[in-house]
Amino acid sequence: MDGNQLNDIEKIVDADRAHVWHHLIQHKPFETGAPRIIVEGKGMRVWDQHGKEHLDAVSGGVWTVNVGYGRERIANAVRDQLIKLNYFAGTAGSIPGAQFSERLISKMPGMSRVYYVNSGSEANEKAFKMVRQISHKRYGGKKHKILYRDRDYHGSTLATMSAGGQDERNAQYGPFAPGFVRVPHCLEYRAQWDLSGEEYGIAAANAIEEVILAEGPDTVGALCLEPVTAGGGVITPPEGYWPRVQEICRKYDILLHIDEVVCGVGRTGTWFGYQHYGIEPDFVTMAKGVASGYAAIACCVTNERVFEMFKENVEDPLDYFRDISTFGGCTAGPAAALENMSIIEEENLLENTTQMGDYMFDQLSALADKHAVIGDVRGKGLFLGAELVADRDSRDPVDEKQAQAVVADCMQQGVIIGVTNRSIPGFNNTLCFSPALISTKDDIDEIVSAVDNALGKVFG
Ligand code: PMP
Repeated sequence: MDGNQLNDIEKIVDADRAHVWHHLIQHKPFETGAPRIIVEGKGMRVWDQHGKEHLDAVSGGVWTVNVGYGRERIANAVRDQLIKLNYFAGTAGSIPGAQFSERLISKMPGMSRVYYVNSGSEANEKAFKMVRQISHKRYGGKKHKILYRDRDYHGSTLATMSAGGQDERNAQYGPFAPGFVRVPHCLEYRAQWDLSGEEYGIAAANAIEEVILAEGPDTVGALCLEPVTAGGGVITPPEGYWPRVQEICRKYDILLHIDEVVCGVGRTGTWFGYQHYGIEPDFVTMAKGVASGYAAIACCVTNERVFEMFKENVEDPLDYFRDISTFGGCTAGPAAALENMSIIEEENLLENTTQMGDYMFDQLSALADKHAVIGDVRGKGLFLGAELVADRDSRDPVDEKQAQAVVADCMQQGVIIGVTNRSIPGFNNTLCFSPALISTKDDIDEIVSAVDNALGKVFG
């Protein structure tokens, strides 16, 4: 950045400090210190207001920029589309909307319909509404309950928070919507059953069945799960979990909703996280990686079985999905998403994600041999977590401030990492890594080496 730009940046920082309400943080420190502004990005790297370069190991802070920064072909596709037609919604479709839906469905055997919205929360709410409407159409409103899992997250709106498994995020926002029921998490490292491996997975799935039986199967409409729990601590389900979950859903005629807001579009090395496990969902919701943050787009995707239920009775004026999302009509989203998908295909980024994910998993595991504070390494593809514990036997969590110090030290070194699960008794402090799918071994070495240094400094 040149001097003028830096002067302007000072003013911008002042404007930010005076008027922007940032997500997820306490603002008191900004009364004396400056908020961080990210000014530019290219590939895996971003530059802040001081011109300092950072290697971004969390793809834009919250696992979004899957194909990396500075992709001119996405920008050009969006520009061309905006000039041609920026928007139309309601009763008509658009060319990129049709093209992207066909392309997306080609990656999702068994699925058939794409409902465009703006955010992951909204995509999940649409699925919830469809479940409720099916309950009214078919079951007199009785089969309306939606099961969600401890530690999973499905969004920031009140209905999605009602399906939120992270109590610490919900603590001050109740009362919540009725009809959402929690099932146990499946993190073997924080075991709830004295079992391991596949047996653990089956027990965790059976625990869902117990909840269904307690509630009454005729009252349960859907089960909503993340394929790999993200913000709740990067939780990969044990072997045996998913086949049993699918079996249970079929047994009680419960619709299976997979929340791919984080795992979707390549993050775990397959197009969608659920595809590792051979699941056949009824709903798949997605957001972040769909257009890698180049435009706001999210989708609620259903299979034909769900879709068919909304056009059964053409004489009934209430029989269709009476719902709209105004900005679901923005064409920039699907235009960006098409290019995003082409980039993933042309650059073989799914293969790269698998290879680099395995490499990073091994590197983090090696770090665990060196630093006893790493209690568990888990994840899939380029979505990985390292849980920090004060003691490996008791698995007591480290102090939250120490985990924050690790993140801050990495930042000092020019590497941006994340930490999930702050302030949760028994679950604290999982360092979180989700670098872009274009990561190289050098990038990963740089990230792991920064973490190595930081752990050394904070924990000795
Ligand atoms: N589901 C999951 C699994 C998420 O991680 C998030 C966001 N972090 C959401 C849903 C909500 O997405 P959004 O913030 O776009 O509403």
